[in-house]
Amino acid sequence: MRRLTLVVLLFASACSAGPAPSEIVPGNAPAPQPAAASTVTAAPSSSVGPAPSCDATASLRPGALPAAGQMPAGSTMERILKRGRLIAGVDQNSYLMGFRNSFTGEIEGFDVDVARQIAKAIFGDEKKVQFKIVTSAERIPMLKSGQVDVVVRTMTITCERLKDVDFSQVYYQAGQRVLVRRSSGITGVDSLKDKRVCVASGSTSLGNVVNRAKTTVSVPNWTDCLVMLQQGQTDAISTDDTILAGLAAQDPYTEVVGARFTEEPYGVGVPKGQDDLVRFVNGVLEQMRADGTWSGIYGRWLNTLGPAPAPPAGRYRD
Ligand code: GLU
Repeated sequence: MRRLTLVVLLFASACSAGPAPSEIVPGNAPAPQPAAASTVTAAPSSSVGPAPSCDATASLRPGALPAAGQMPAGSTMERILKRGRLIAGVDQNSYLMGFRNSFTGEIEGFDVDVARQIAKAIFGDEKKVQFKIVTSAERIPMLKSGQVDVVVRTMTITCERLKDVDFSQVYYQAGQRVLVRRSSGITGVDSLKDKRVCVASGSTSLGNVVNRAKTTVSVPNWTDCLVMLQQGQTDAISTDDTILAGLAAQDPYTEVVGARFTEEPYGVGVPKGQDDLVRFVNGVLEQMRADGTWSGIYGRWLNTLGPAPAPPAGRYRD
């Protein structure tokens, strides 16, 4: 009889609903934020003071492309060929540009297709590429330490960054805009003065917006910003129109507002001192422009931004 009582009691407690959510999280407890979220009060020290000036988007002129599988002896491309794969730093969190397809597990997107074209030019096989996932803030350290051969990750060419890494010619011209919840009343960057904005650490977007919003929070990934927007922890996300188009496609309760207020020319990042690889990548980009590959990749990923523009023309300082 006593045993039966015990069993009944145990059963009853296992089935009870447990404490109501309000007993676990007091009403005034701050909602959890993404890991490594931090409040930014000023532009990073690197962007304080006059921006260094240079002709940032003039790259190195390409020569004729060597045949795939036959890279010049002693070149950076030959070293990559001998290794058997290109190592490319890409994003896995920016739908349309660099993201993990949750059905196939594959990394896909506009930037990923550009990286595959570089692999194809070296090996004759676009699959000979290993993707390393890098956040905005990890791009330059990964290039400087040589952990990646190239970075193809919505990376704006700036004079500041050219102190640490080299860039190909421009392969895409983006611009910064603002993403908000639908019907928020926010109409663009000029309505952010009394609003909270979210950006990725290590992005140019941060420096472009920090002085134009009431508060700025920085997080590792753009999708962290989307979660903060969905949870009401930020009023807006501000970055390149390419990335915002992907976030808006993932959440139909959001919309992109206002005009572009910056120019963000994307280049393929290359470690300093590898001029042969910069020229080679520029040759690949020239070829992609000429044979329609660039427009095909645009059509595959970025039609939501409008019909394919003419690909950016190469500019060279020789
Ligand atoms: N294009 C900007 C940058 O290079 C923002 C994009 C990003 O952080 O991924 O910083």
